Amino acid sequence: MSTPAHAVQDRSREVLPTGDGWASSGTGTTGGAAAPADHVHPVRTRAELVAALAAPAPRIIRVEGMIDVNTDDGGKPLTCAEYATGGYTQQDYLAAYDPAVWGWERDPQGSVEDARVASSRKQAAVVGLTVRADTTIIGAGRGAGVTGGSLRIHGARNVIVRDLTFRDTRDCFSRWNPGDNTPGETPGNWNAAYDSVSVQRSENVWIDHNTFTDEPNIDSAQPVHFGRPYLTHDGQLDITSGADLVTVSRNVFTEHGKVMLIGSSNTSTTDTGKLRVSVHHNVFRDVRERAPRVRFGQVHVYNNLYEGDPVFSWGVGVTSQVYAENNYIRSIAPEKVIYNWGGTAITDTGNLVDGRPVSLVKAFNTAHPDQPLGTDAGWTPTLNRGLDPARRVARLEAGASCG
Ligand code: CA
Ligand code: CA
Repeated sequence: MSTPAHAVQDRSREVLPTGDGWASSGTGTTGGAAAPADHVHPVRTRAELVAALAAPAPRIIRVEGMIDVNTDDGGKPLTCAEYATGGYTQQDYLAAYDPAVWGWERDPQGSVEDARVASSRKQAAVVGLTVRADTTIIGAGRGAGVTGGSLRIHGARNVIVRDLTFRDTRDCFSRWNPGDNTPGETPGNWNAAYDSVSVQRSENVWIDHNTFTDEPNIDSAQPVHFGRPYLTHDGQLDITSGADLVTVSRNVFTEHGKVMLIGSSNTSTTDTGKLRVSVHHNVFRDVRERAPRVRFGQVHVYNNLYEGDPVFSWGVGVTSQVYAENNYIRSIAPEKVIYNWGGTAITDTGNLVDGRPVSLVKAFNTAHPDQPLGTDAGWTPTLNRGLDPARRVARLEAGASCG
């Protein structure tokens, strides 16, 4: 029997197509597609989502509408003040660790920092969402998603995350690190916890057709403290700690600072030969950095669209092997696309800047003759379902609302 052309396919049972990036290798990525009917969980609240995540595998979780994760088990919203404990107030924190008082030599410590850590633990227990193996989490229609939540795919193989909007994954208790410096900026940084999606020690993960944004609480609207922006967001999609075989396709990453960290430590002993990720047909719009920033991994970055005014897009870190191919870059200075974070080479081929072929690695090397990069990442990607010419990527649409 043939399927009528107008039939709506049940996306929640789709699996990653053969050959679609690194997550298609090994045993492939099926998520919860084989779930029996009683393992399919429609969820509308944080409590329902948490229960579904803990239900037997394989499981399909259909998120209906926007779930605010900063809520109690009865669905009542929780404010930052309600997580605060041990006497924590931001006013006390700013008074105690002002560099004029505390100096620049040590990270915050003592009773006020202890209160921040205790408060942070209370928020983490609410917003951290543990994802187990053999799971598909999918948005049911336009506007489905998670506000303030941190999906933790940790030690869980075979996971699919699709069609969701991740909004404002906000840390109420950002910490001050006086010794964390950004090149070219005044010293110190505010650092936040909670990635919207965090993949660690997991294989065969497919992140597809999602939208990631800080809206409605963007960092640029936050105050400056100690001369540095008070950041309340961490990564949108961080892939670290020996994670491997991940495909990141057709997402929109927007209104954010640190987008995608692949590998979190120069001295990791678990990441060599892992952190293999394919990043394709995504839109990176109005984001500051890390699209992605890579250590160790063989990462194929192809057919993505970049727009806005980033600090850098492709971070070339320790022993990374980034192969950047047929991307379209709009209105970004070519020398700002790549940054060398201790790597040696990046393959850069077929990329267009405002419609013109440009060697982005040569542009970087001209601007930074003291830290040049080679032009051969040392491998040739084979797992893709066909590359588009970069010119076609200029019209790319992606994200949670685009089917
Ligand atoms: Ca992170
Ligand atoms: Ca903007």
